[in-house]
Amino acid sequence: MDDLAYYENLEKLANAMTEHTGVDIDQVYAILRNLCGILRVCKGVTEFFSSEAQERAGKGETFVCYDSGSESDMSISDRTTMPGGISARCQVYHEAGIEPWNEQEKSRITTVMRLVIGFLSRSRLNHLVERLTMHDEQGYKNFLCFKSRIAQMGGEKLIHHAAIRFNLKHFSVINEEIGREDSNVVMRRYIDSLEEAGGEGAIVCRLGGDNYVMLCDQDYLGVVIGQIEGAPIPFGENERITVSATAGIFLINEDYGYNGPEDIIERIMSAYGAAKAGSNGDIIFFNDMLRINRDKAARIKKLFPIALKNEEIQVYYQPKINVQNNMLIGAEALSRWHQDDGIVLPDDFIPVLEQSMDICRLDYYVLEHVCRDINRWLNEGRQVVRISVNISRRHMIEEDILYHILDIIDMYDVPHEYIEIELTETTTDVEFKKLKDIVTGLQEEGIFAAVDDFGMGYSSLNLIRDIPWNVIKVDKCFVPLDTEKDESARSVMFKNMVNMLHEMGRECVTEGVETKEQVRKLRSHGSVVAQGYYYDRPLPTSEFEKRMDMRYYPEDND
Ligand code: C2E
Ligand code: CA
Ligand code: CA
Repeated sequence: MDDLAYYENLEKLANAMTEHTGVDIDQVYAILRNLCGILRVCKGVTEFFSSEAQERAGKGETFVCYDSGSESDMSISDRTTMPGGISARCQVYHEAGIEPWNEQEKSRITTVMRLVIGFLSRSRLNHLVERLTMHDEQGYKNFLCFKSRIAQMGGEKLIHHAAIRFNLKHFSVINEEIGREDSNVVMRRYIDSLEEAGGEGAIVCRLGGDNYVMLCDQDYLGVVIGQIEGAPIPFGENERITVSATAGIFLINEDYGYNGPEDIIERIMSAYGAAKAGSNGDIIFFNDMLRINRDKAARIKKLFPIALKNEEIQVYYQPKINVQNNMLIGAEALSRWHQDDGIVLPDDFIPVLEQSMDICRLDYYVLEHVCRDINRWLNEGRQVVRISVNISRRHMIEEDILYHILDIIDMYDVPHEYIEIELTETTTDVEFKKLKDIVTGLQEEGIFAAVDDFGMGYSSLNLIRDIPWNVIKVDKCFVPLDTEKDESARSVMFKNMVNMLHEMGRECVTEGVETKEQVRKLRSHGSVVAQGYYYDRPLPTSEFEKRMDMRYYPEDND
């Protein structure tokens, strides 16, 4: 017997079985075949039993490591038991008619058998554990399975794959129509057929309910999409029902810089969101979505000047209330774009306008409308409150921003104390200096300056120490939730922030106040001014005028 070859192969086998980055099972089998030759083994069989009952019934999983097909006249076997009734057995056969194994060969064979048993039990055990953690209670692969598959494949191997997020259409109707039991069968069959359509290595994993994610090779995408668009699924006796889905797809190609499973998941989720939102089809590719967004942005950019000219953009007013006495003390002006098919909210167009100086045109437009309204209110003899106007960070590069603001206010003869300017935090030192100059300039003119969304960005305390703001608007993310205890981090921070701001002599407005309980907390924390849905949403001018005339918000006592 070739000693050297034996040791070489044994070492290779041990290494192949303990590979860190996934075991190459073909390689393991190839080495085993070499060893069988060296050790004059004509056949090797391993059985794995996941319970005692399975072993008694002789119904384990069988792995044939090698089989030369020759007759055998003797065999050696070995067996291992593990906790939980799991066991493995290995049996190797000696070829009939040749010289029997000597003692050394027998001991070498036993060594190899132990290695094989250990290896198989370990990988089978992993498999079992995987089956338990990677599947939901109905046996569908779960989200964890999807994520770990992506992570396992990593950058290179994912190229030319498609990741898909889909939801079965009208499945609740199917449920009602054919009953729970049959629709479970239908769902199972549909998912199995999709996984099959996806080719070798494709997986379909359930997120919950009728929501799924899938990964497959792009070569099979055509067939998969066909199934997503609709597939007749048999059930009961000779009946069929067509199942289809809404889907978001991301094609992973060479140019994609892999950045972990989360990024891919985010992409299919947002493409799916676009598909669900309708109007662009039931299947949306992530790249299409970028195009849709670009088109939307282009449309906004194109329509914006016309909207300004035609006054399609209206100013709404959201009241600010003194929570101690329920009196209206001010309002924030917010834009609403009235288009033919409904009102567009700022979150849909402000980010686009902020890409260019268009946002500045909007802000001056809003300021002008506010001044015009205040002027009218004063002429009508109304008791006017201070109105705040948002001025985007983009204005920071304008040389004459202060004069521009003053020009508009003075053009409408609005007393300066009725105007407040809301500015957001800045990120650079240069902007910080400019911001400080603007705020100081505004104050010299008797115009109020407020820092908006305080606490939301990476705001530092320098911002409120070094710039003489009149008002600090505490972002809604700091407002204690109803369910939160007074000791929670948010409550403690909120309370101390309000205290600090009051001690510094700043007015503090709390944004996003939605419930009675929050108002109660605000009062107990000494916070004075609130703005939020609890009191009012942003209101059209005529509605706001009613509030202004009424002044007082009656206490809701239930
Ligand atoms: P913002 O300045 O923080 O304005 C407050 C936003 O919070 C408003 O959204 C308001 O409707 C909303 N809000 C008020 N109370 C509550 C509440 O209780 N709960 C919740 N969840 N939200 C509440 P809106 O009007 O959609 O405006 C969004 C953002 O768009 C504004 O955030 C502001 O940054 C920007 N924006 C709106 N109009 C203008 C404008 O004319 N110029 C500029 N530069 N930005 C504007
Ligand atoms: Ca604001
Ligand atoms: Ca805000």
